[in-house]
Amino acid sequence: MPLRKLASGFLSFREDTYLPKRELFQALAQKQAPKIMMVACSDSRVDPAILTNSDPGDIFMVRNVANLVPPFAQDDAKHGTSAALEFAVNSLEVQHIIVCGHAGCGGIKALMTADPAIADARSFIHNWMNIADEARRRTLLMHRHHQLPEQLRALELEAIKTSLANLLTFPWVLLRVQEGKLRIHGWYFDIADGSMHMYVPDEDRFRPLTLELVAQLQDL
Ligand SMILES: [Zn+2]
Repeated sequence: MPLRKLASGFLSFREDTYLPKRELFQALAQKQAPKIMMVACSDSRVDPAILTNSDPGDIFMVRNVANLVPPFAQDDAKHGTSAALEFAVNSLEVQHIIVCGHAGCGGIKALMTADPAIADARSFIHNWMNIADEARRRTLLMHRHHQLPEQLRALELEAIKTSLANLLTFPWVLLRVQEGKLRIHGWYFDIADGSMHMYVPDEDRFRPLTLELVAQLQDL
């Protein structure tokens, strides 16, 4: 009875969260002013709002297959992620964009293993995962002597870096980053050990999340 679980979950939310925080919700009914945008995977196990104990209004969220940011492109395709990015940066003027990847990503695995599910060039996932194809090539080059699990983890991390680079291909993202009004971050969640890692650009590596590291990376 999956729907029944959702319905009773909503009733609990109303009782335990909505009613005690009614003032917050009434204020949010007028407008949203999140300081953070996140790009996370659609995977059911990695809901960033749950992982970060966030409140409604805290995070402007996009979730897609493998938490990818496509490069800037002006054509007639329906760019859902880019549209959300545009709204977050130009209208909401968020101060941070976090690309949040995760261990055990099905999209990344499909790309790395040439899964038949995405072999069809007309498949939406095939076309979408192309965004990380260069990252896949880099990963295979760097980790050609490693086993698949290490390669998958490496590609999950490498794809986050691709998305961070792609963010800067959007002229208004680049401008706000250069003006010091916007910071971009890469996070990586591992559900097996409950850890979160953050990308440190100066060191080109991911380090465990600590409040000190957050402070170091968010100085505007
Ligand atoms: Zn995923």
